[in-house]
Order: sequence, then C-alpha cells, then structure tokens
Amino acid sequence: MITKSFYSVFLFLAALCFCNSAIGQSNMEYDVVLMGGHVMDPETKLDAIKNVGIINNRIAQISSEELNGKEMINVSGLVVAPGFIDLHVHGRTNKEQEYQLHDGVTTALELEWGIENLKEWYATRNSRALINYGASVNWPFERFKSIPGQEESVNKLHQASIRGESSLELLMNTIAPSANDPLTDEELNKTLDNIKATLNEGGIGIGAPVGYLPESNPNELYQVFRLASELNVPVFSHVRKPDIISIQETIAVAVLTNASLHIVHINSMSLENIQLSLDMVNDAQNRGFDITTELYPYTAASTAIQSALFTEGWQDRLGIGYDDLQWVATGERLTKETFQKYRNEGGIVIIHMMKPEWIEAGIAAPGVMIASDGMPYAEMAHPRTAGTFSRVLGKYVREEKVIDLMDAIEKMTLLPAKRLEGIAPMMRFKGRMQVGADADITVFDPNTINDRATFEGGLEFSEGIEYVLVNGQFILKNGKIVSDTFPGQPIYGRYKK
Ligand SMILES: [Zn+2]
Repeated sequence: MITKSFYSVFLFLAALCFCNSAIGQSNMEYDVVLMGGHVMDPETKLDAIKNVGIINNRIAQISSEELNGKEMINVSGLVVAPGFIDLHVHGRTNKEQEYQLHDGVTTALELEWGIENLKEWYATRNSRALINYGASVNWPFERFKSIPGQEESVNKLHQASIRGESSLELLMNTIAPSANDPLTDEELNKTLDNIKATLNEGGIGIGAPVGYLPESNPNELYQVFRLASELNVPVFSHVRKPDIISIQETIAVAVLTNASLHIVHINSMSLENIQLSLDMVNDAQNRGFDITTELYPYTAASTAIQSALFTEGWQDRLGIGYDDLQWVATGERLTKETFQKYRNEGGIVIIHMMKPEWIEAGIAAPGVMIASDGMPYAEMAHPRTAGTFSRVLGKYVREEKVIDLMDAIEKMTLLPAKRLEGIAPMMRFKGRMQVGADADITVFDPNTINDRATFEGGLEFSEGIEYVLVNGQFILKNGKIVSDTFPGQPIYGRYKK
C-alpha cells in the first residue's frame, strides 16, 4: 500500500526523472549505481535483474536500462534487498552494530525493554552510529522513577546515560530491589505521566518486559495498555511467564483495551505451545486487532541469571536442568553449585530449552517477523547477536527450504517497517526496494550466506553479506566495514517534540 507521503515523494522523483528523460536517462548521473543485481521488493513482489540508481539517501531509479553513476558497483549474482530491520536488540553501541551490519541489518531498535533516559541516549548516538537506531519508552524505568526514595539511583543512571555508559544490565540491577513492589495509585499515575513525557523524547511505543517484573500488579499492566490505546502507540511485551496463560493474558489485555501489541520472541515464551500461540495471534488479527509477533532462529534463549525466570521451580517450568544452562562469561555448562554461585553474582546465561521444530513452525508462519533479541557484546554472547538474519537465509531458506527467499526477506524488512509506520512515520520509507524509498540496502550472496557465530565458538561475523548501504552511504563493501563512516540516523516515535 502506498501511503500519502510516500506517494508524494514518489511523484517528486517521477517528475525529476521525467525532466531528465528529456536529456536521456542514460545521461543522468547517480551517486551510486548497483549494476545487474537480483532486486527483490517484498511489497511489489519485484523479483528481477535490475540496475539501482541512488541519489543522496534515496533510491532514485530501478531500471533494466543502463545507468550512469559516480560510483558503479557490479552486483550480478547477488540479491539486492531492503536493509534488514531488527525490532529487538539490547546492544546500545557500535560494538554490537558492527556485528549487526555484517548480518545485513540497517536499522536496529531496542523495543522490548526500551532505553532509560532516552533523550540522553539518543544524544550520545548522534552522528556516531553505523546503522539506524532507536528505542521505545522503558516502562520498568518509568515506574522505578515514580517510587519515592529512588532519587539517588535514578540520578546515577542519568549520569551513566549522559556519559554513554548505560547498559541493560546496569538498569536491571538498579531497579531490581523495587521490581516487584506494587505501586500506589499516586505512583501509578506518575508512571503513566513519565511514559507520556518520554514519548515526547521520541520513544517508539512502550517497552513492557513484564516477564522481568512477573509479580507486578495486573492493574498496572492494564493501565499501561489503556494509555497505549488512548495515545495509539504500540506496546512491545515480553509476557509474564514462558507459558500459554501469559500469552493469553497479554492478548486479552490488548483486546480489552484495543491497544496495539507486539509479542516479542514467541518461541521462548510459548515453548511446546508455539502453534497454539501463533493461532491465537492469527485469530486476533483476523478479528481486526493489531497484534503481531516475532522470533529468533535458535533453540536457546539468553538472559540474566539473576532474573525472575530462575526463581524456585525453574527446572519444571522450563523442562530443563542445570546442564542446559551455559555461562556466557566462560562458555561453561552449569552445575547446581555454579548455578548458585553465579545467581548470587549476576551475569548472562544461555538457556538451551527449545526444540528445532518449534523454531521451524515460527519461521514458516505467515506474518511472523524475524528479530534477533541480540545481546550486549560478550565474546561468548548468544550467537543470535551476530547471526540471526544470515541464519534464516542460509539454514532455513537455502538448506532446509522452510520458507522461500521473498517471504524471508519480507519478515526482515517490510513487515517490521509496517509494524512501526503508525508510531514512526519515517518507517514508511524503509523496508522497500522502490523509487523514493530510503537507500538502506543489503546485498548478499544467496548461495553462500550463513551465520558463523555459534554457542561453542562465540560471536563471529556472518558470511555472504557483501554490501550494505545505510541512508545511501556504503558502510560495508566486499564484506568489509567502511571505516570512519557513520550513516546511522535516529528513528523516533511520532510524539517527539
Ligand atoms: Zn525478552
């Protein structure tokens, strides 16, 4: 569907091309031309050998005719796709973005948790980011700020954000003591006011990782969803517990309040019930509710060992034992003793708890997006941090033929762009290989693309991603990063003042 503003840019460019046609299209000089690639657009279903002309930050021409450019790159034999859009990352710096761009990602957003002190964080990324960046409003932080007596901790987090040293783990550890305190009416009202204020800083909806505050009062969640509905902003939620009842709870709240809902990593939340979860999301959509979901293509999860997931009884709830836990700092598998030790100390753990067929079901399901849930950098961080998108294209498209290439590209580009268009109108220009769209482009070899990060060997750049352009600028060429280039731009929600 062509939106109004997208259409006006299209017309502008069409007029531009028309003027130039008087002097012959072949005389037009583009900034960059990608020659002879296999161009794929999931919206128009364009799937053909074409030349792509780029002017400034936009795609200005897609043609079978020869095009002239200041820079001409032969991409024959390669797929030219919209840059991948990752709705769910926890890395906040270029350290993680370097892995992401080698995986074809041109926009990486922290929407599950959101980021505290959003204005300060956006400021630290200005003109420094490799790829596009953005985040939602962090509900756990906004509620923490509303509790009297936390001023000192809030101030420390604020200072860390200004210095560019904020991190999810620092935030989690700071708010942990109050995570399960019920809010008074006054605190709840303050929380809602805080959320509104941070939407004005450009927050892309509301991050509601309820699973990390599983004792939080259902009324609080309900009021957050009511606010989201009133303001027409989406809620991105990690549901209360990894079980089907929690999926039902979240969908019920969204349906009752008519809020837009995106359920993150449905694979690790549903476990053996993934098909039922997918059916519920699908039924909600068929009844007109704006409810979507995503998954990452791995059979292991990853989170902080001190989180609520590991309260008494976790083995039964998750159907696993100590040996299924892998300590990120060393790569070792845990025992009863090391589990206790590390749970007291805190840190990140990988949880081997899913079956391959559950992941396949999620990848095959129409409308389900691919999102990495990429973790903050560590040598032995969960491989999804570096390999999610290449893994889908290598393992699940080429090798196992779970879905075809166009459907896979749609799940990484058009679907996430459309998910965000309502809250972040600039996303209307992303996720598409069309004249007038932003030149965020990923060029890859469909015969060699593969993830290389593993649970045993740790993070590695993916292979087969040959070129990446962000806002018309190359950031990856012949598989190598272009140094001293920072084309990443902020993505903001529409309430930004
Ligand atoms: Zn999560």
